[in-house]
Amino acid sequence: MTDTPAALRRILGTPARELSCEECFELLDVYVDVESSGADAASAMPGMRPHLLGCPACAEEHDALLAFVGETGHPEG
Ligand SMILES: [Zn+2]
Repeated sequence: MTDTPAALRRILGTPARELSCEECFELLDVYVDVESSGADAASAMPGMRPHLLGCPACAEEHDALLAFVGETGHPEG
């Protein structure tokens, strides 16, 4: 599965910066997927973690997705 959307490549190809909520939501499932696989999602997608820390709406969505993806493991709180 190397079919990366152009928007994702564009975002991943840029240095750490603040994402918009739109970009955050677009990348959230990928971010959670990377995160739940045990990879360093914060390094792989630099803008995501700062946005999640500062945006309750996206953080809530992230938690829900992470819980969903991680239900066979141990979702974080
Ligand atoms: Zn947001």
